[in-house]
Amino acid sequence: MSRLERIELFHVDMPLAEPFWPSWIPGYPQTHNRFTLIRLTTDDGLTGVSAGAAFTTERQGLGDLLGGFLLGLDPMDIATVRQRIKEASYLGWRNWWIEPAFWDLRGKIEGRPVYQLLTGSDARVEKVPCYASTGSLRSFDERKPYLDDIREKGFRGVKIRVHSFDEEEDFEILRRVREEVGAEFQVMVDANQGWRVTLIDDAPLWDLERATRFGRVADELRFAWIEEPLDMHRFDEYAELRRRIETPIAGGELFGSRQEMRTALDKGAFDILQPDATFAGGSKTGDGPLPNAWSAASVIHPIRGRTASVCSLTCTSRPRRGRTIFWNIRMSHRVGLLKDATVFWRRLSVLTAKAPSPVPQAPGLGILLDDRKVSRFARRFHLMTPSRLAVKTIREKD
Ligand SMILES: [Mg+2]
Repeated sequence: MSRLERIELFHVDMPLAEPFWPSWIPGYPQTHNRFTLIRLTTDDGLTGVSAGAAFTTERQGLGDLLGGFLLGLDPMDIATVRQRIKEASYLGWRNWWIEPAFWDLRGKIEGRPVYQLLTGSDARVEKVPCYASTGSLRSFDERKPYLDDIREKGFRGVKIRVHSFDEEEDFEILRRVREEVGAEFQVMVDANQGWRVTLIDDAPLWDLERATRFGRVADELRFAWIEEPLDMHRFDEYAELRRRIETPIAGGELFGSRQEMRTALDKGAFDILQPDATFAGGSKTGDGPLPNAWSAASVIHPIRGRTASVCSLTCTSRPRRGRTIFWNIRMSHRVGLLKDATVFWRRLSVLTAKAPSPVPQAPGLGILLDDRKVSRFARRFHLMTPSRLAVKTIREKD
């Protein structure tokens, strides 16, 4: 049996080739790709990695907390791993981003890719359907070369962002995009209202009426879904919006737990859940019985961003009103499935020698870190082993 023997934490800080202006934080140019890297090592020398998004070095003190909760754990015992991560989160940080590193270890122990562990099937998945996404706000004219580019590359869907204080400007972009790509191309739109951030610049604040007007335009243009048109917890308003419009509603990307998802589904708030396993309780959050409303599709939705082109998977695909939302990778009731992997690929791919495959077949998560890149862009700020933990504990009890 393997035991966790070593925990390392790194601040990763990689300059971007050009500033990235995320639509979800208006006015805030990202000039660096920053995240926390965790590397776990077992007593038999296996390593597992994961990554958590970071503004800066805010997890500086996290290592002192983790050792006592995680050292000595058996990576095969994911239930206990999950319990310990939960316990370590009671007083502060959500630490679910750490959980996939244990899946990485477990996959290596079992000699299987993580997607097979999560699906419980040996079926080999070679390809996953993708849509192209966007992260910044653009006028239609600025966006057009990108639309040309992705169609040339064979994408059959795109997700755009709109964010104007003048809703007519938003409608205009929607209409021109539909006109440009034609009726058969899948178009989604993200309103970024779920977890609005106004730290730097103000951002429009939608209410149910604005979302309804927007939804009617999306209906007319046959959009595949509208993403987060309201604050993520306004479940009753989401349900009312669903009654008013035809276009499927997606959301929940920053939900913190299975319970939030369940409540949202019980209230009829969403057609499509988009949980991020690194926030919402880890890779196994969706396991087990959930209400019938779980027939809502669950979409994994990383962006095609500054580091890699990544993919979007549909877990359960039984969209309402007979509409085909997206594709058909059927993974049953496992929310968060592969979301974590895609997020890691996006974050960790900057530290690998070559871009990982969208469906890595190697044991674990299939991420092989490039030591040269790690030493150049990652700064280790914490190392914990059982002996270090013992010394630390004795000192603290003095
Ligand atoms: Mg989104």
